[in-house]
This record gives sequence, structure tokens and C-alpha cells, in this order.
Amino acid sequence: MKTFKSTCCYCGVGCGVVVTKEGNGQLSLEGDKEHPSNKGMLCSKGMNLHYTVMDQSDRLLYPQMRLNRSMPMQRVSWDDALERTAAVFKTLIKKFGPDSVAFYVSGQCLTEEYYLVNKLIKGFIGSNNIDTNSRLCMSSAVVGYKLALGEDSVPVCYDDIEAADVIFVTGANPAWCHPIIWRRVEAHKEANPNVKIICVDPRKTDTSRSSDLHLQIAPGTDIVLNNAIGRILIERNYIDQDFIANHTDGFSDFKEKVMQRTIDEAAELCGINADDIYTAAEWIGRSEGFLSFWTMGLNQSVIGVNKNLSLINLHLITGKIGKPGNGPFSLTGQPNAMGGRETGGLANILPGHREVVNAEHRAEMEQFWNTPVKIANKPGLTATEMFEALADDKLKAIWIINTNPLVSMPDINVAEAALNKSRFVVVQDVSNRADTVKFADVVLPAAAWLEKEGTMTNAERRITHLPKAVDAPGEALPDAEIIWRFAEKMGFGDSFNYKNTSEVYDEYTQCTAGTTIDVTGVNYQLLKNNRSVQWPLTTSFENNILPVTGTKRLFTDHEFYTKNKRAQIHAVNDENTSEPVDEDFPLVLTTGRIRDQWHTMTKTGRVAKLNQHTPQPFLQIHPEDAKSRNIKEGQLAVIKSRRGEVRVKVNITEDVRPGLCFLPMHWGKILGSNLGRANNLTNNLVDPKSKEPDFKFSAVEVSLY
Ligand code: SF4
Repeated sequence: MKTFKSTCCYCGVGCGVVVTKEGNGQLSLEGDKEHPSNKGMLCSKGMNLHYTVMDQSDRLLYPQMRLNRSMPMQRVSWDDALERTAAVFKTLIKKFGPDSVAFYVSGQCLTEEYYLVNKLIKGFIGSNNIDTNSRLCMSSAVVGYKLALGEDSVPVCYDDIEAADVIFVTGANPAWCHPIIWRRVEAHKEANPNVKIICVDPRKTDTSRSSDLHLQIAPGTDIVLNNAIGRILIERNYIDQDFIANHTDGFSDFKEKVMQRTIDEAAELCGINADDIYTAAEWIGRSEGFLSFWTMGLNQSVIGVNKNLSLINLHLITGKIGKPGNGPFSLTGQPNAMGGRETGGLANILPGHREVVNAEHRAEMEQFWNTPVKIANKPGLTATEMFEALADDKLKAIWIINTNPLVSMPDINVAEAALNKSRFVVVQDVSNRADTVKFADVVLPAAAWLEKEGTMTNAERRITHLPKAVDAPGEALPDAEIIWRFAEKMGFGDSFNYKNTSEVYDEYTQCTAGTTIDVTGVNYQLLKNNRSVQWPLTTSFENNILPVTGTKRLFTDHEFYTKNKRAQIHAVNDENTSEPVDEDFPLVLTTGRIRDQWHTMTKTGRVAKLNQHTPQPFLQIHPEDAKSRNIKEGQLAVIKSRRGEVRVKVNITEDVRPGLCFLPMHWGKILGSNLGRANNLTNNLVDPKSKEPDFKFSAVEVSLY
């Protein structure tokens, strides 16, 4: 019997787990009581994680390829698969330039894997065409943090939960989607009944039901609400004049903006009671610890960056940031979305939170990597842009790693048609359930969680080491090894000559020296001995004397990462620019998660216990909207948008506001049909700054099937 300490690979809470491997290979799993993020707790998904490793019925076992899409896939050797891929990439790059190829990766990737793909395409192929599915979930928060605080830096930690007396949850349902954080919130409230929880959500959820105040706003009115709260904080003198004067810019424009709308007007637009806005502002104004949490309700919006800024403003005008229990806390959706951003995993960034448009940053990485080409000086294609470029034949080849865009992309029929038309598709994945496999020219089997070694960073900047505990089935290889083997086939072997992922990680940490996410003090040995650390952590910082904690909170000195070290308060417009509703499509559709499923269900969909909670997709619709359409509970309905349709059973409930309906995002194919796939309906509008899609607002109509 052997035990291994690892981290749950589902959500960004990043719970520590202890895996036990019996002599017969059977695995069991429990929460790690010593891990500071979860203190032994696990949610239903985490508790059942080991079943996804033991059930190998859907695993891709060996490399496959075909010379054209009308041919069946053939099993080939790793050398053959990678040599052909390299030959195709070289031909396309020679003929059409480096921007003719792209990598689309995942917040599931480990830090080392993210780093290697970025190094390969940005430093050696010479294109910035790499983006990640984090673009679909976090990029508005990234831009919001950068514009307000100077960098993409979560300033808070989970221990701030127990130090807060007002917890403001907006556009999020952590009771289902970040359950261990929510258990900490509930335990804190139980021990301290004076703590106030405010939930902002157009739906009633388990989070809103355990809150003291639910602001059930109309979809798209988050900025109206936040600006109204800002106005009350100013009028009732709850602002921190010294903090504003000494540590921020932009307050007078903000004040002018929020004074343009009365609280009554704001309440009417939001569809809530003005008294409730006053109550929320009073609680925030009087609090000693004001902690805000948000996820997709703010981020997945055509005005996502401005929604983020409007929330961060409330912390800046009250000075409630950089001290225990205070700060804006963007909850990461995926397990290593943050590690991805640290290593440059978006089309506009380089490792160490450097920017591709910054000549100094490019020069630093060119020198560090000793690149044979100049790093391109403009951002590459983002997630949705990649599929548009494939459809237009501007992008010739795409390599998709550990993500399932044919369920997760907005306006999915466009993405599907793009892959169908594309010249060359490589799919690197664990599972044959990935919907992309049937469009692939080359399929590369990847090792899964517990089958490879690496690191991840969770939502509170906490880095943990994930050991290899079991062998991958068949010929599946760790993703990092696949990339360094491919780099060698491309002729870059001297710069990708790694023996293990520890060497990759050491190289990555050295390129962070002197940056705001400096982790030069971190290595595998430290992580194994110490379990985890929060960045930044330099060698000089704690000198590796255990236990090392790293940095719990940022901005405790109130010096921000902007050039003048002052945070920027932004006066943001409150108009929503989502797809308009009209006579033909009068309802707003929002999409989201359910409790026991994860993303596109390639893992959780295989666990019988998890499928019991909600076995089929469904549409939530308000009783008034159902009645006016003569639809009864449990009947099959057809939901149509300007792009496509979905057919699912309806759940008539007052949990959604009149005029709003909700579909879960997880389902792709059911019995060969795509009619439960929510993204048949969503639109391709994106936030202009973050390029994050507007998943939370599509105009639809519902009728009886
Ligand atoms: Fe895993 Fe997230 Fe559940 Fe923790 S809260 S066990 S990280 S899914």
C-alpha cells in the first residue's frame, strides 16, 4: 500500500487529496487534512475522482492518424505521428507563415505543459497563436485586475473568508461550483451569526438560499447595481478619503458617473427593491472585512471587463483591499487556469505575466529562451477567433490539447463547421469521448491525472505538486513529453532537451525572476516537503526554512502594480450590449453548471454516483413564461435562438426570473444527438477587451415540441 498527496483536478479551489494505492492497484481517496485550502474537505466531484482514473474504458491508448478524413484512423507509432505532424506544420509555416498554425489548450493542463507549449509556439515557431479555454471563463477577470490593480493578481486568500464580516457573492453559485469555499463561508457564518452574506444572481440557487440578502437582478444589470452601491457609499460617507487620495486615481470621474443615475432608477433597471440596494451598501460600508467573490456571471459577458471593474471599484473607494478579510476574489473555474496565465497561456501574454506587445518583455524572453526567431509583437488568435480563422482558411492547422471545444465554444455550429473544413487537426486528449476526435487527422493519447507529474496553482495563488502515482494505460504519454518530443521533430531539440518535468519547472521559475509573480524560490523538492506555497516566493524571501507559506495577501503596503503604484478607479458605463431580445426571441437564456458535473462530462459523466443528481439536461423557465406558452412541467420543449435549437424537458420554477431561462452547459451528444447542447443557442459576441464570450445572455424563444 502506498499513499500520494495530490490536488483535485476539477475546479480552481484546488483541494488537497490523499490517494491510497493498494497492492492490487485499487485506488481510494480522501481529503488532505493538512492542505490549507480544504483542510480535509472534498465535494462530491472530488470524492469520486479516483473512479475516473480506474475506469479506463474510454481511454485513448495509442497514437492514430489518417491521410484524409474519408479514411479510417490507423494505429501508428509515436515517431510516425509526431513526424507527420511536424512535417505538416513545417510545410504550412513555410508556405503560409507561422500564424497559419495554432494551439488551443486547457486550464486542465499542468504548469509545465502550459510553459512548454508557449515556449514552442511563441519562441520557436514565431506565432502567438496559443489560447486556452480559460478565455471562455477567466479572461474578463484578468483584464479587470490588470486595469484596476496593474496586473492579473488575485490579492486575497481563502483565510480571508474567516476574517470577513460581509461576503458579497456576485454572478456565482459557489454552493455548487466551488463547494469547499462555500462550506468555509457557511461554517464562518454559523460561528459568527453577525456575518452578512449578499448574493447577486438572476437565479435563486443554493448560494442565494443560504444568503442574508438575495439581489435577484435582471440579467446584464450588474454594473447598474454596483454603481448604485458606489453612489450610496459616497453619499453616506463610507468611502476612505485617505486611501482614495494616497493610493488611487480616477475617483472624481467615478463619482460623476455614479451620480448620473438615482438609486430608484437603478432599482427599476435591475428589477429589484431600492431598499435592498441601500441595505447592501450599508452592510458593505460598515464592514471591517468586505470580501467579494465572483465567477462567470460577471466574466462571461460582452461587458465582462466593465462588470469586473465596477466591482473592484467598491473595494478601492472604501480602501477595503490589502488587509485581512478584504478584497476582490475572482474564483477560478479550472484547476490550473492561474498556472496557465503565469506561464503565458493566453494569446496576448508571455511567461511571468509579461505582455507580447511590450518590446522589453519580448526581448527578455527571447534572451531567456535563446529563440531562433523574434517573438511576434501582436497578440495571436483568441479562442473564438481561432475557429473563425479556421472557417475562413486563414488558420490552416489547429492542435487541441485536453479541451472539448465542440461542447464548450459559443455558437457551436460555427466551431463544428470550422473544424470540419480545416486542413489539419491534431487532438491530444485522454478520452475518446472528446467530441473533437472525429474531426482529427492525428490523435495523440495523453496521460491523465495521477499518471504524470507536475504543478498547478489554485485560485488563491497556491502552487502544489502533483506526483505520478499510476502508469498511464497503453502508450499514453504525459502532455509535457508529447510537446518536447514534437519540438525535437520540429528541429528544436537542443532547447527542449528535458529529462523530466522538474527540469521544465526549474526553467520556468527562473524566468519569473524580478517579476511580480517571482517564484524563483520554488522547486519540486520544496513543494514535496512543504506541500504548497502561495506566490510570489523568492529565494531571499523565506530562505527555504520550512514551513514556507509564500505570500498570503498582495498590496498590504497599498502599493499596486501600476506604473505609479496607484490603483485605478474606472468610471464605467452601465449599458448592456448583449444580443437584443425581440418579438421572435423574447426570452434571455443563461447557461451554467450543475452540482455534480464538470465541464463537458468526459470525466464526471462516467461516474454513476454523479450522474444520479441530474441525469438529463433540462430547461428552467418561470411559471408565467411557461403558462403563456402552454407548457407544463416535464414536457419536451424546443428552445430556438437565431443560431440553432435545443430540445429538452422543462422544469417550471420561480428560481428564474420571468423572462429568463436557464440551461446547463455540460451536455454534448446524448444517444448521438446534439439536441441537449446549450451552445447550439449561444452567440459569438465577445467582450472587446477580454474577448470572452457572452454565454450568459442569448435571445431565445421556447415552445412545446
Ligand atoms: Fe475538487 Fe473543487 Fe470539489 Fe475541491 S471544491 S473537491 S477542487 S471539485
